Amino acid sequence: MVKFLDLLKINAQYADELKQAAADVIDSGWYLQGERLSRFEANLASYTGVRHAVGVANGLDALRLILKGYIALGVMQEGDEVIVPANTYIASILAITDNRLIPILVEPDLQTYNLDFRLIEQYITPRTRAIMLVHLYGQVCWSGAVEEIAKKYNLKIIEDNAQAMGASWNGRKSGSLGDAAGNSFYPGKNLGALGDAGAVTTNDDALASMVRALGNYGSEKKYVNSYQGLNSRLDEIQAAFLDVKLKYIDAENQRRREIAQQYCNHIKHPDVQLPLNHLHDFEAGSHVFHLFVIRTTHRDKLQAYLSDRNIQTLIHYPIPPHKQDAYKTWNHLTLPVTEQIHREVLSLPISPVMTEEEVQHIIQVINAY
Ligand SMILES: *Cc1c(COP(=O)(O)O)cnc(C)c1O
Repeated sequence: MVKFLDLLKINAQYADELKQAAADVIDSGWYLQGERLSRFEANLASYTGVRHAVGVANGLDALRLILKGYIALGVMQEGDEVIVPANTYIASILAITDNRLIPILVEPDLQTYNLDFRLIEQYITPRTRAIMLVHLYGQVCWSGAVEEIAKKYNLKIIEDNAQAMGASWNGRKSGSLGDAAGNSFYPGKNLGALGDAGAVTTNDDALASMVRALGNYGSEKKYVNSYQGLNSRLDEIQAAFLDVKLKYIDAENQRRREIAQQYCNHIKHPDVQLPLNHLHDFEAGSHVFHLFVIRTTHRDKLQAYLSDRNIQTLIHYPIPPHKQDAYKTWNHLTLPVTEQIHREVLSLPISPVMTEEEVQHIIQVINAY
């Protein structure tokens, strides 16, 4: 049986260090807002190449708090528009609507699965305040053109970096490219906690302080509440786990890239479309392969075939946000590229703990399909 993702095996690699980290936190008697969080924030900021990292409860909250922070700072207000790729995981969109901002759904590029930069400008209105770029499946979504557009229309660029921890673009890390980024440490993400956790990364001093306050009851000083905040904090124990695992993220991403390269070089089937690494460069690091997503016109058939041969696959994602009951008013919309992606995508197993035999086995089974 090849599991889609073996979390036990991933964390077992670091079991001694993780157990020691947990024991240290337990014995410290200090469980929130302590030195382990500060240390992880400093290490994450330095790794990402930004001035500030602010730990929060999860990735969705990181994005929610960025937008809430911009509203509190007067950069945007209720009813303003945020451009976002239509095929993203729904969390990107929930963060926008939760703040009573309006998501403007824009189609992705069928080759990269990332926002189609050529379409952005036509969706800009006087109420557009931000572009949310999602580095979907682990591939950096960035270009000089998008920076130009943001400058021209005075828009913030918010990165949803939940899936691309450790990726880089021309030597700059994802999470440092835009004005602010939401990062997720959900256990299955490339840098996974042993529970929920997230962080905002930014070079914006005012936004960083605001996010920190908003995630702590809108308070900068105990029992003094300056804003209507939330409780969204990163536990000491998760910060301690993340500090252990941050040391290994580059090696893990490197292994993911090697597996992706093997898949790309050796899977050959007329009905299997491989993901396009748009720089055709597995070394440069613009793709950290959080997911290895192929497209196929008879997706359910291929998934059943692989399942019969004990290869577990998943679909990211089966229903696009605009067809969800949560967003009924959008259900009538037609977004052909997004809908084709949701009909055809299938994610193959990829993880830093997969063995060479497992990778070869998957390649052979698909080629024999
Ligand atoms: C996982 C994910 C999120 C949300 O992160 P959580 O930590 O699960 O809240 C947001 N956006 C994308 C693209 C994700 O994959």
